[in-house]
Amino acid sequence: MAECLFCQIVEGTISAKKLYEDDHVVAFDDINPQARVHVLVIPKRHVASLEDTQDSDAALLGQLMVVCAKIARERGIVESGYRVVANTGREAGQTVFHLHLHVLGGRSFTWPPG
Ligand code: AMP
Ligand code: ZN
Repeated sequence: MAECLFCQIVEGTISAKKLYEDDHVVAFDDINPQARVHVLVIPKRHVASLEDTQDSDAALLGQLMVVCAKIARERGIVESGYRVVANTGREAGQTVFHLHLHVLGGRSFTWPPG
């Protein structure tokens, strides 16, 4: 989607600090980090949110989670712990409507989230 920010990051027309890339998934640093480690893991294909997924997306969703765990290991936040978040829809605070998983770590978090 030409007007989608994260599609433009996938294509390279908007720059981002890419940490991981394979045929289907890209991971890059969040531009406004909310923790010492704050990485976004996204599908290359435009999917607006979890609400836009179906059974045929199960492998892609699994790969996104596997990449989150890989990033956590590489960034050294496994021992201390980390959080993976998919804000979905307005009241959850989703602002970019291209599916993304936040990987957050390097500080302690409260539960329930705000
Ligand atoms: P959400 O609020 O869950 O939709 O998260 C969107 C995230 O995208 C926020 O954490 C933003 O800081 C991040 N973001 C917005 N623009 C960029 C960008 N150009 N590069 C990297 N991250 C971005
Ligand atoms: Zn997109």
